[in-house]
Amino acid sequence: MTRPSVAIASLGGTISMTAASAGAGVTPTLDAAQLAAVVPGLTQVAEISAESLLQLPSASLSFDHLLECLRWAEAKVDAGAVGVVLTQGTDTLEETAFFLDLYWDRPQPLILTGAMRTPAAVSADGPGNLLAAVQTAIAPGSRGRGVLVVMNDTIHAARWVSKADALSLHAFVSPDGGAAGRLVEGRPGYFHGPAKRPVIGRPQVHTVRVAMVEALLSDDGELAELAVQAGYDAVVVAAQGAGHVSFAFAERISRIGNTVPVVIASRTGGGSTAEHTYGFVGAEIDLAARGALLAGWLSPRKARLLLRALLAAGMPRAELGERLKKWGKLPDFIPDAAAGH
Ligand code: ASP
Repeated sequence: MTRPSVAIASLGGTISMTAASAGAGVTPTLDAAQLAAVVPGLTQVAEISAESLLQLPSASLSFDHLLECLRWAEAKVDAGAVGVVLTQGTDTLEETAFFLDLYWDRPQPLILTGAMRTPAAVSADGPGNLLAAVQTAIAPGSRGRGVLVVMNDTIHAARWVSKADALSLHAFVSPDGGAAGRLVEGRPGYFHGPAKRPVIGRPQVHTVRVAMVEALLSDDGELAELAVQAGYDAVVVAAQGAGHVSFAFAERISRIGNTVPVVIASRTGGGSTAEHTYGFVGAEIDLAARGALLAGWLSPRKARLLLRALLAAGMPRAELGERLKKWGKLPDFIPDAAAGH
C-alpha cells in the first residue's frame, strides 16, 4: 500500500536540544532525520522526508527565516506532500504559527510542533508530538484549516493558540474557543469545521517594525511614544480589560496616532476588545474617537503580526481599520469540512 508523503523540517527548539556534557545547558543539535528516527512507527504512518532548515532557539527565529520556511513548505506540497510538519521551539510557536497562517494559501495542512521536554528527559514528549503531527498531517479532516499546532495530542488553530505555561506538558491552549481537535489512539478528530481564513499578499517592504507596549498600572504611555520616536512604523497597545488605558496614556495615543497607526488589543489573554460599552477617557469609545483601531479578538501579539503583515504588503493606512475589523471578528465556519477545497 502506498503511504501518503509528509515532509518534515526542523528549525531547532527543545525538541532538538541536547547537552554537550553532563550538567551543561541544552542547545539545538539534533536534525530532522535524527528526530524522525526515534519515533516508533513513524515510517508506517507516512513516507517521510526530513530536512534540517535551521538550528535555533525559537526566540531567535526571524520573519525572514519564516518566509524561507514558507517557501520550503509550498515546494513540498507542490511536489506531492499531503502535509508538512515544522518542528521548532515552543517559546514563539503561537507567533510563528499565526505568522505562517497569514500567508499559507494551500489546502494541505502546515503543522507546527515541538516539545516541552528535552530528548534526554524521562518521558520526553518530542517523539509523541512528532508522531501526532504526522498523523494530523495525513488526515483528510485537516485540509483547509491553514496552519495547525499539534502538542500533547491536541490540535490548535494558529489563530487562537497560545502558550500559557512555561514548562508544563499542557502548555498550549486556545483560551477563547478551545482546541480545534484532539488525537485519540493516533486518530485526529475535530470539534468543528474549518474556518474561513483570509490570506495576505507577501511582504513588499521588509523593514516594517511594529512595537507592542503593555499598558500598566500608573502608566502614562511614554514607552509607546518612545517607540515612535525610535522609528517604529506602528504601535500595538496591550491595553487593560476590554481595551482601556489611563487618561495620560489616552492623550499620548492621540499624539502618537498623528504619526503612526495605533492598535488597541486586550492584554487579558482572552476575549475581545469592546466597541461601545465604556464611556470614560481612555476607554474603547474614547480611543477609537482618537483614531486608534480596535483589535477585537486578536491578542496583542497576533495583532502585531497582522499589522506588520498588512503594512509590509503595502496596505495604505486608510484601509487598515477595515481589514483589522474583519480579522478581529470571530471567523465564519465552513459547515462542510470538504467545502472550499
Ligand atoms: N523552551 C523552548 C522550546 O520549547 C526553547 C525554544 O523555544 O527554542 O523549544
